[in-house]
Amino acid sequence: MNLVMPAEAAADYKSPAQKARVVTEGWASRNLYCPCCDSTSLNATPHNTEAIDFRCPDCASPFQLKSQNSAIGNRIVDAAYDTMMRAIREDRTPNLFVLHYDRAAWRVRDLLLVPRFAFSASAVEKRKPLAPTARRAGWVGCNIVLEHIPPDARIPLVEDGVAASPREVRESFRRLRPLQELRAEERGWTLDVWRVVQGLGKREFTNDDVYGFVPEFERLYPGNRHIRDKIRQQLQVLRDRGFLTPVERGVWAMKRGD
Ligand SMILES: [Zn+2]
Repeated sequence: MNLVMPAEAAADYKSPAQKARVVTEGWASRNLYCPCCDSTSLNATPHNTEAIDFRCPDCASPFQLKSQNSAIGNRIVDAAYDTMMRAIREDRTPNLFVLHYDRAAWRVRDLLLVPRFAFSASAVEKRKPLAPTARRAGWVGCNIVLEHIPPDARIPLVEDGVAASPREVRESFRRLRPLQELRAEERGWTLDVWRVVQGLGKREFTNDDVYGFVPEFERLYPGNRHIRDKIRQQLQVLRDRGFLTPVERGVWAMKRGD
Protein backbone atom coordinates (compact mmCIF):
# COMPACT_ATOMS: atom_id res chain seq x y z
CA MET A 1 0.00 0.00 0.00
CA ASN A 2 1.48 3.30 -1.14
CA LEU A 3 0.53 6.00 1.36
CA VAL A 4 1.48 8.86 -0.97
CA MET A 5 -1.68 10.10 -2.67
CA PRO A 6 -1.81 11.01 -6.40
CA ALA A 7 -1.86 14.80 -5.88
CA GLU A 8 -1.45 15.44 -9.62
CA ALA A 9 -5.08 14.41 -10.09
CA ALA A 10 -6.11 17.63 -8.30
CA ALA A 11 -4.52 19.91 -10.92
CA ASP A 12 -7.58 19.94 -13.19
CA TYR A 13 -9.95 21.02 -10.41
CA LYS A 14 -10.57 24.32 -8.69
CA SER A 15 -12.70 23.65 -5.62
CA PRO A 16 -11.03 22.08 -2.59
CA ALA A 17 -13.92 19.59 -2.30
CA GLN A 18 -13.43 18.39 -5.89
CA LYS A 19 -9.66 18.15 -5.45
CA ALA A 20 -10.15 16.08 -2.30
CA ARG A 21 -12.63 13.81 -4.06
CA VAL A 22 -10.47 13.01 -7.10
CA VAL A 23 -7.28 12.53 -5.09
CA THR A 24 -8.86 10.26 -2.47
CA GLU A 25 -10.77 8.26 -5.09
CA GLY A 26 -7.64 7.98 -7.22
CA TRP A 27 -5.63 6.74 -4.25
CA ALA A 28 -8.33 4.28 -3.18
CA SER A 29 -8.69 2.80 -6.68
CA ARG A 30 -4.98 2.07 -6.82
CA ASN A 31 -4.38 0.97 -3.23
CA LEU A 32 -7.42 -0.58 -1.57
CA TYR A 33 -7.45 -4.36 -1.44
CA CYS A 34 -10.13 -6.80 -0.38
CA PRO A 35 -10.00 -7.79 3.31
CA CYS A 36 -12.53 -10.59 2.72
CA CYS A 37 -10.58 -12.50 0.06
CA ASP A 38 -7.16 -12.41 -1.61
CA SER A 39 -8.03 -9.84 -4.26
CA THR A 40 -5.28 -7.19 -4.42
CA SER A 41 -7.63 -4.52 -5.79
CA LEU A 42 -11.18 -3.21 -5.59
CA ASN A 43 -13.20 -1.75 -8.45
CA ALA A 44 -14.83 1.67 -8.18
CA THR A 45 -18.57 1.50 -8.82
CA PRO A 46 -20.38 3.96 -11.13
CA HIS A 47 -20.87 7.31 -9.37
CA ASN A 48 -24.61 7.01 -8.88
CA THR A 49 -24.38 3.69 -6.99
CA GLU A 50 -26.03 4.44 -3.67
CA ALA A 51 -23.82 3.89 -0.60
CA ILE A 52 -21.42 1.57 -2.44
CA ASP A 53 -18.17 3.06 -3.73
CA PHE A 54 -16.15 -0.09 -4.42
CA ARG A 55 -16.77 -3.73 -5.07
CA CYS A 56 -14.37 -6.65 -4.96
CA PRO A 57 -13.91 -8.09 -8.48
CA ASP A 58 -13.48 -11.59 -7.02
CA CYS A 59 -15.90 -12.00 -4.08
CA ALA A 60 -18.26 -9.06 -4.91
CA SER A 61 -18.04 -7.67 -1.34
CA PRO A 62 -19.36 -4.06 -1.28
CA PHE A 63 -17.44 -1.16 0.30
CA GLN A 64 -18.15 2.41 1.22
CA LEU A 65 -15.31 4.92 1.62
CA LYS A 66 -15.60 7.93 3.92
CA SER A 67 -12.69 10.35 3.68
CA GLN A 68 -11.73 13.25 5.87
CA ASN A 69 -8.71 15.48 6.35
CA SER A 70 -9.11 15.51 10.13
CA ALA A 71 -8.29 12.75 12.62
CA ILE A 72 -10.83 9.93 12.89
CA GLY A 73 -12.94 10.77 15.92
CA ASN A 74 -15.76 8.87 17.53
CA ARG A 75 -18.44 9.85 15.01
CA ILE A 76 -18.57 9.31 11.26
CA VAL A 77 -21.29 11.17 9.39
CA ASP A 78 -23.31 8.71 7.34
CA ALA A 79 -26.41 8.78 5.16
CA ALA A 80 -30.09 9.01 6.05
CA TYR A 81 -30.97 7.52 9.43
CA ASP A 82 -33.92 5.45 8.20
CA THR A 83 -31.95 4.13 5.23
CA MET A 84 -29.08 3.02 7.48
CA MET A 85 -31.38 1.36 10.02
CA ARG A 86 -33.20 -0.50 7.26
CA ALA A 87 -29.90 -1.59 5.70
CA ILE A 88 -28.83 -3.06 9.08
CA ARG A 89 -32.15 -4.90 9.50
CA GLU A 90 -31.95 -6.26 5.97
CA ASP A 91 -28.24 -7.10 6.27
CA ARG A 92 -27.30 -4.85 3.34
CA THR A 93 -24.76 -2.49 4.94
CA PRO A 94 -21.51 -2.28 2.98
CA ASN A 95 -18.11 -2.70 4.62
CA LEU A 96 -16.93 0.74 5.70
CA PHE A 97 -13.49 2.25 5.11
CA VAL A 98 -12.75 5.45 7.02
CA LEU A 99 -9.79 7.36 5.60
CA HIS A 100 -7.92 10.18 7.30
CA TYR A 101 -5.45 11.95 5.05
CA ASP A 102 -3.06 14.85 5.43
CA ARG A 103 -4.26 17.51 3.02
CA ALA A 104 -1.03 19.53 2.99
CA ALA A 105 1.21 16.55 2.23
CA TRP A 106 -1.41 14.41 0.42
CA ARG A 107 -0.50 11.40 2.49
CA VAL A 108 -2.69 8.75 4.09
CA ARG A 109 -2.48 8.94 7.89
CA ASP A 110 -5.11 6.41 9.05
CA LEU A 111 -7.40 3.93 7.40
CA LEU A 112 -9.95 1.95 9.36
CA LEU A 113 -12.23 -0.86 8.25
CA VAL A 114 -15.53 -1.82 9.87
CA PRO A 115 -16.84 -5.13 8.48
CA ARG A 116 -20.38 -4.96 7.12
CA PHE A 117 -21.74 -7.35 9.73
CA ALA A 118 -20.34 -5.35 12.69
CA PHE A 119 -22.94 -2.57 12.60
CA SER A 120 -25.60 -2.74 15.28
CA ALA A 121 -28.51 -0.32 15.64
CA SER A 122 -26.81 0.98 18.78
CA ALA A 123 -23.92 2.24 16.63
CA VAL A 124 -26.27 4.46 14.58
CA GLU A 125 -27.04 7.85 16.07
CA LYS A 126 -29.88 9.98 14.79
CA ARG A 127 -28.87 13.52 13.86
CA LYS A 128 -31.07 16.59 14.23
CA PRO A 129 -33.50 17.07 11.34
CA LEU A 130 -32.36 19.69 8.83
CA ALA A 131 -33.79 23.15 9.49
CA PRO A 132 -37.06 24.18 7.77
CA THR A 133 -35.00 26.62 5.67
CA ALA A 134 -32.71 23.87 4.31
CA ARG A 135 -33.17 22.51 0.80
CA ARG A 136 -33.98 19.10 2.25
CA ALA A 137 -35.92 20.43 5.26
CA GLY A 138 -36.70 17.80 7.86
CA TRP A 139 -34.25 15.26 6.41
CA VAL A 140 -32.67 13.18 9.19
CA GLY A 141 -29.11 11.95 8.78
CA CYS A 142 -27.10 9.69 11.07
CA ASN A 143 -23.68 9.26 12.61
CA ILE A 144 -21.86 5.98 13.02
CA VAL A 145 -20.60 5.96 16.62
CA LEU A 146 -17.31 4.09 16.44
CA GLU A 147 -17.06 3.35 20.16
CA HIS A 148 -20.32 1.40 19.82
CA ILE A 149 -18.62 -0.98 17.39
CA PRO A 150 -16.74 -3.86 19.07
CA PRO A 151 -13.04 -2.91 19.32
CA ASP A 152 -11.85 -5.88 17.27
CA ALA A 153 -14.27 -4.87 14.48
CA ARG A 154 -12.46 -1.56 14.01
CA ILE A 155 -9.64 -2.98 11.93
CA PRO A 156 -6.70 -0.66 11.24
CA LEU A 157 -5.20 -0.87 7.72
CA VAL A 158 -3.08 2.23 8.32
CA GLU A 159 -2.33 3.67 11.72
CA ASP A 160 -0.52 6.95 12.21
CA GLY A 161 1.09 6.74 8.78
CA VAL A 162 2.12 3.07 9.03
CA ALA A 163 0.38 0.39 6.96
CA ALA A 164 -0.52 -2.99 8.47
CA SER A 165 0.19 -6.07 6.38
CA PRO A 166 -2.75 -7.31 4.28
CA ARG A 167 -2.23 -10.71 5.90
CA GLU A 168 -2.91 -9.27 9.38
CA VAL A 169 -5.92 -7.33 8.12
CA ARG A 170 -7.43 -10.41 6.45
CA GLU A 171 -6.80 -12.46 9.58
CA SER A 172 -8.60 -9.85 11.74
CA PHE A 173 -11.52 -9.91 9.32
CA ARG A 174 -11.61 -13.71 9.20
CA ARG A 175 -11.79 -13.99 13.00
CA LEU A 176 -15.01 -11.94 12.98
CA ARG A 177 -16.68 -14.00 10.25
CA PRO A 178 -18.76 -16.12 12.65
CA LEU A 179 -20.76 -12.95 13.43
CA GLN A 180 -21.81 -12.82 9.79
CA GLU A 181 -23.62 -16.14 10.14
CA LEU A 182 -25.98 -14.77 12.81
CA ARG A 183 -29.38 -13.56 11.69
CA ALA A 184 -29.35 -9.77 11.28
CA GLU A 185 -32.14 -9.23 13.83
CA GLU A 186 -30.24 -11.18 16.50
CA ARG A 187 -26.79 -9.85 15.66
CA GLY A 188 -27.28 -6.44 17.29
CA TRP A 189 -27.55 -8.02 20.72
CA THR A 190 -24.52 -10.22 20.10
CA LEU A 191 -22.46 -7.24 18.94
CA ASP A 192 -23.50 -5.12 21.91
CA VAL A 193 -22.62 -7.86 24.41
CA TRP A 194 -19.35 -8.57 22.59
CA ARG A 195 -18.42 -4.88 22.68
CA VAL A 196 -19.11 -4.68 26.42
CA VAL A 197 -17.14 -7.88 27.08
CA GLN A 198 -14.14 -6.60 25.12
CA GLY A 199 -14.40 -3.27 26.90
CA LEU A 200 -13.90 -5.04 30.25
CA GLY A 201 -10.29 -5.61 29.15
CA LYS A 202 -10.06 -8.89 31.07
CA ARG A 203 -8.90 -12.33 29.98
CA GLU A 204 -11.50 -13.83 32.30
CA PHE A 205 -14.75 -12.29 33.41
CA THR A 206 -18.04 -13.19 35.09
CA ASN A 207 -21.70 -12.79 34.22
CA ASP A 208 -21.81 -10.19 37.00
CA ASP A 209 -19.18 -8.10 35.19
CA VAL A 210 -21.51 -7.89 32.20
CA TYR A 211 -24.59 -7.32 34.39
CA GLY A 212 -22.85 -4.10 35.44
CA PHE A 213 -23.94 -2.79 32.04
CA VAL A 214 -27.64 -3.60 32.50
CA PRO A 215 -28.54 0.14 32.63
CA GLU A 216 -26.88 0.62 29.24
CA PHE A 217 -28.75 -2.37 27.76
CA GLU A 218 -32.00 -1.02 29.22
CA ARG A 219 -31.34 2.20 27.35
CA LEU A 220 -30.52 0.35 24.12
CA TYR A 221 -33.44 -2.07 24.38
CA PRO A 222 -36.27 -0.26 26.15
CA GLY A 223 -39.17 -2.57 26.81
CA ASN A 224 -37.03 -5.68 27.16
CA ARG A 225 -37.72 -7.02 30.66
CA HIS A 226 -35.33 -9.93 30.48
CA ILE A 227 -32.02 -8.17 29.99
CA ARG A 228 -30.01 -10.53 32.21
CA ASP A 229 -31.43 -13.62 30.48
CA LYS A 230 -30.65 -12.04 27.15
CA ILE A 231 -27.06 -11.28 28.21
CA ARG A 232 -26.54 -14.89 29.34
CA GLN A 233 -28.01 -16.16 26.09
CA GLN A 234 -25.68 -13.92 24.07
CA LEU A 235 -22.64 -15.08 26.05
CA GLN A 236 -23.61 -18.59 24.97
CA VAL A 237 -23.93 -17.45 21.36
CA LEU A 238 -20.40 -15.99 21.62
CA ARG A 239 -19.22 -19.30 23.08
CA ASP A 240 -20.87 -21.27 20.26
CA ARG A 241 -19.22 -18.99 17.68
CA GLY A 242 -15.78 -19.53 19.18
CA PHE A 243 -15.25 -16.13 20.84
CA LEU A 244 -15.50 -17.30 24.47
CA THR A 245 -14.61 -20.40 26.48
CA PRO A 246 -16.59 -21.36 29.57
CA VAL A 247 -14.37 -21.65 32.67
CA GLU A 248 -16.97 -22.53 35.29
CA ARG A 249 -20.57 -21.59 35.93
CA GLY A 250 -20.90 -17.85 35.30
CA VAL A 251 -17.20 -17.43 34.43
CA TRP A 252 -15.84 -16.98 30.91
CA ALA A 253 -12.44 -16.64 29.24
CA MET A 254 -11.66 -14.67 26.09
CA LYS A 255 -10.60 -17.13 23.43
CA ARG A 256 -8.43 -14.80 21.44
CA GLY A 257 -6.71 -12.52 23.88
CA ASP A 258 -3.34 -13.77 22.61
ZN1 LIG B 1 -12.93 -10.01 -2.18
